[in-house]
Amino acid sequence: MTEAIRTRLWIGNEWADSGTGRTFATVNPATDETIAEVAEAGAADVDRAVRAAREAFRDGRWRRMDPHKRSRLLWKLADLVEANADELGLLETTDNGKPYFEARRVDVPSVARTLRYYAGLADKVQGDTVPVPGPFLNYTLREPVGVVGAIIPWNFPLSMAAWKVAPALACGNAVVLKPAEQTPLTALRFGELAAEAGFPPGVLNVVPGFGETAGAALVRHPGVDAISFTGSTEVGRIVMREAAATLKKVSLELGGKSPNIVFADADLRVAAKGASMGVFYGKGEVCAAGSRILVESAVHDEFVDGLKTLAGKATVGDPMASTTRLGAIVSGEQLDRVMGYIEAGRRDGASLVAGGDRVKVNGRGNFVNATVFSEVDPAMTIAREEIFGPVAAVIPFDGVEDAVAKANDSLYGLAAGVWTRDIGKAHRLAAEIDAGTVWVNTYNQYAPGSPFGGYKESGFGRDLGFHSALEKYTHLKSVWVALDR
Ligand code: ADP
Repeated sequence: MTEAIRTRLWIGNEWADSGTGRTFATVNPATDETIAEVAEAGAADVDRAVRAAREAFRDGRWRRMDPHKRSRLLWKLADLVEANADELGLLETTDNGKPYFEARRVDVPSVARTLRYYAGLADKVQGDTVPVPGPFLNYTLREPVGVVGAIIPWNFPLSMAAWKVAPALACGNAVVLKPAEQTPLTALRFGELAAEAGFPPGVLNVVPGFGETAGAALVRHPGVDAISFTGSTEVGRIVMREAAATLKKVSLELGGKSPNIVFADADLRVAAKGASMGVFYGKGEVCAAGSRILVESAVHDEFVDGLKTLAGKATVGDPMASTTRLGAIVSGEQLDRVMGYIEAGRRDGASLVAGGDRVKVNGRGNFVNATVFSEVDPAMTIAREEIFGPVAAVIPFDGVEDAVAKANDSLYGLAAGVWTRDIGKAHRLAAEIDAGTVWVNTYNQYAPGSPFGGYKESGFGRDLGFHSALEKYTHLKSVWVALDR
């Protein structure tokens, strides 16, 4: 990693000093070591980045570029992401604490796939001709919204950047990306790679900084036309409120407390594996984590035994070790929150069957082992609030009606899983659960073409997908032409 990446902002395809003169440390959560001092963007820096993006949008250097050429640039960026996959994976792991094999083998390849998928959209952003009465030709144009502010969280830093940046750019927008303060490094490198690919200056700008300052400045900026946000429900509310002043187009992908429902007729061995992966993958720092595991009473004890065994196998360790399944929790602050929830589970009388311990690896870092509570009452805090850590709450249920009622008894509605061999039951649940994604006999599947986002307080708008990207990142214009004069 070069000195420049460590210390500056990325504006107009150049490293730029921060007007604040301040830097903040980004820490490797597995070792407690500071890995970089990152220039902190303040409101004036965000303004500079937005101006660069506005200019790039206004003069047409991007939106008027031959769409096929825009497509080739996105494809080229995917190639560069792959060519630099080891470095990007290492940056992500040191910044976030996730196992290197996840960063390198899952996250980075998915970023390349997302870029290539949207490379395919760039020359398909088109309208319709509309049959209208009278001597008129009516047609629609799909136009980019302008400057998109993308604000992303720390759990999948590079993937989230790609989820926002790739469709926004494919549709002809310019982007200002504000990565999370805990994990700014891969986003900065991504900006640099975009320049290397040949993206014109100002098309992609990266401003690391804090939410209340840099993030808020982006949301308030009159030169930003749309905000694409992924983060907590709490901050999502603030973003929506603040964006009202300038009536920006807002999309919010927020928290979750997703139910993973195991019926007695499921293949219990497979279901336990899926439930374990669903809640422990990514240390549980996954907005779609299946953190409420609803289990039909008849198989509750057998299922919990299986889950307990799998939790014991989720090895906590150095994220660089190939045997590690649970890396470091992103920060000490986040680990304190997770431990607070484990304490609440104990206090409320849930039965702790696995984990629950703060762990050190080589005497340092923020780790917690895979934790399972069983016999959880749906009213308990651990069954209602998003923990964002490897903590499962197993809740018994009886029959389909009860499963649906308990699954939907949440303010959130991001995702859900259903495990059953009964195909009718599976489809009935898929229809009745209030969630943006339902997985049947699987969990945590994602693909660039499949839209992802929430119901209820998990937000609105969809990341990924074809039509959802057009809805989010374009305006639809109607053009009337009189044919008789
Ligand atoms: P998490 O709980 O995952 O940290 P947050 O919602 O706190 O999620 O953060 C997600 C992103 O939102 C981060 O990039 C953060 O800096 C940003 N953010 C936090 N507060 C604000 C705010 N008031 N306005 C805009 N962005 C914010």
